[in-house]
Amino acid sequence: MAILIRPWRREDVPAVRRILWESWLATYRAFIPEADLRAYFTATYQPESLLRLYELSFVRGLIGEADGEAAGFARTQYQKNENRLYLASLYLLPAFQGRGIGDRLLKAAEAQALALGLDELWVGVMVKNEAAGRWYERRGFRFIREEPFRMGGTTVSHRIGYKPIPGAAREAGLSQRLHAVYPGEREDASLAELAASLYEAQKKNWPALGEGCTALAAARVREIRGERWQVKVQFNPQRIVSAGAKVDRKSIGQRPCFLCPANLPPEQRAILYRDAYLVLCNPAPIFPGHLTIAHLRHLPQSLPANLEIFLRLAADFGPGTTVFYNGPRSGASAPDHLHFQAAPAGLMPVEAEVSAAASRTKVKQKAGATLWRTEGLGRGALVIEGKEAGAVAAAVATVLEALGRSDELEEEPLLNLLATHGGGGWRLILFPRRKHRPAAYFKEGEERLLVSPGAADMGGLFITPVEKDFFAFNRALVLEIFAEVAYDDAAVAALLESL
Ligand SMILES: [Zn+2]
Repeated sequence: MAILIRPWRREDVPAVRRILWESWLATYRAFIPEADLRAYFTATYQPESLLRLYELSFVRGLIGEADGEAAGFARTQYQKNENRLYLASLYLLPAFQGRGIGDRLLKAAEAQALALGLDELWVGVMVKNEAAGRWYERRGFRFIREEPFRMGGTTVSHRIGYKPIPGAAREAGLSQRLHAVYPGEREDASLAELAASLYEAQKKNWPALGEGCTALAAARVREIRGERWQVKVQFNPQRIVSAGAKVDRKSIGQRPCFLCPANLPPEQRAILYRDAYLVLCNPAPIFPGHLTIAHLRHLPQSLPANLEIFLRLAADFGPGTTVFYNGPRSGASAPDHLHFQAAPAGLMPVEAEVSAAASRTKVKQKAGATLWRTEGLGRGALVIEGKEAGAVAAAVATVLEALGRSDELEEEPLLNLLATHGGGGWRLILFPRRKHRPAAYFKEGEERLLVSPGAADMGGLFITPVEKDFFAFNRALVLEIFAEVAYDDAAVAALLESL
């Protein structure tokens, strides 16, 4: 049975009425006369009354679907004077009880409390509805007092209780920062929708992001074409911090980590992703809607240990988003703090180029994953496609291992990785790297070229914060940089041979 939790819609009103009435009859008839139930139901839950509730900003309804059928309903109500979120209703059609739908609805309500920055979720349960009382107690609710409640001619006593909301975010003292929570069970809204609403809100409330977006909109772009490839060069002075960042161990150790929750700017808000990562707006964007997805904890940047979540992230965002990863020595400006990035799909020229039949050669089929190599794109890349997360992750792990051997390094090999998920499968573009920055980066004065290639640059979007460098770019320079920092086609072919 496929369960889906989603926000209620106007069209759900008849289904909500049916769920309420059938579950009331099944549960309450034992201790409330049916006539009283009907009187209360008729007085309280006319379609117009439900639509009025639907319109209220402090009321939210959730539908639990089982195989496409509305089988459960939950309603939360934020009580401003108490600063509490109440789970005002949670009902299931009797035939659908005991199948986990109630748990999913409860979890979604808890996520709302967390997103509101609250420490608890409150509930009222009829004293005589002992089964429901036990159900809530088993899920961590504590009942602290009783209140009378009238239903038609019958007065029933209610137990009022609450559940403390757990979660890593609470431990990190993050609740005030949360714009939304994405628990990862196909909840209310998609991750892409939540991210879009975070961006909109932050553009208004966080001046630094507003400035970053204005700078991006005004950034000049040049296009340079090779035979089968195209590169865009973006002149973005805001990026001086990132392009000029010192990423050696000593400098990193001396600065406060800008991705640790405790050091985020006070205006910055986040989406809590699967209780482990924060989805954040990048205040110096190189793409519209540019996001950073940072782990809650200060863990080192590493791909092998985090492949599964990287793939999951791409799938959760959906086909409109490209998720990317910069290795700790390949463009990550916070190599000491585990993070990914995301941007609208299709903005890096390579994303379209690898689809051209002439630009790729199928090399290997490995248990559920297909590996290709690119040809004639100025730098070598591998394309990995597959429908099973496990198979795709295994293919990437094999490539990482082979790269590690040829690098003869203890650390993770140098690389950048792009991923999109659509049509039920993943497509990854992996750029093995020879080094992070070209030699020209380290020259003095006029000779210096301030370009610090990461995933975006390898994807065909070069960023430079210096105007002189912006105009210096031409076909020869692009190929020179690629040749210096990336594998060429032959090196990728040899790598694939060795697998
Ligand atoms: Zn950190």
